[in-house]
Amino acid sequence: MPPPAQMNGRDADQLDAGRTLRYFLGLGSNLGSKAGNLAEAVRRLEARGVRVLKASSLYKTEPVDVPDQPWFVNAVVLVESGLRPERLLDLLQDIERGMKRRRGRSKGPRLIDIDLLLAGRRVIRTRRLVVPHPRLAARRFVLVPLAEIAPRAVHPVLRRSVEILRRDVADGSLVIKRPGAFWTPAKRIRPGRPAKEFPHDQSRT
Ligand code: AMP
Repeated sequence: MPPPAQMNGRDADQLDAGRTLRYFLGLGSNLGSKAGNLAEAVRRLEARGVRVLKASSLYKTEPVDVPDQPWFVNAVVLVESGLRPERLLDLLQDIERGMKRRRGRSKGPRLIDIDLLLAGRRVIRTRRLVVPHPRLAARRFVLVPLAEIAPRAVHPVLRRSVEILRRDVADGSLVIKRPGAFWTPAKRIRPGRPAKEFPHDQSRT
């Protein structure tokens, strides 16, 4: 039997032969320093070797599923990685855990939520992972930031562009753009520098 990470001489965590995929990730927080939590999540992605290519603005958004909770701050980032989608999901969940996200009430308050929205044009339906994200096309707080950075990206199941999905979405909840850039390549944070909010964190690599 080959060791679990190796199959036929290639690394089962990685895409084939040096290939990478472009992923869109949705970030959200409605506890603590919300914008700081999103920036910290992006910093941790970069520290773990995920290349951040683009980020939307930050948006203040009205809670949708459970109304009696604080408003969220949401953003979407485009990243590039050689990790397979399932392994990227592992990494996202590891970052959530490292930032002490407690899995409490479903769709309730959270320090950080990171969703895998799109994985190139792949369609994935496993027990753990559904891509495109099942709620992508129904949520303004996802579609508005996604349309800001990738209006022409195509939903591979609905075969509609993000811009059209945003225009037609029935969800009327408030999504308010905050001024200023959330992340630019110039804002790239050096790996290994602990953020003030997480001085004792051991999970960084
Ligand atoms: P949530 O509490 O909303 O972050 O949901 C997390 C759960 O959704 C986990 O059990 C994941 O395995 C599952 N899941 C399925 N598809 C996705 C996806 N595209 N992105 C993130 N989590 C997903």
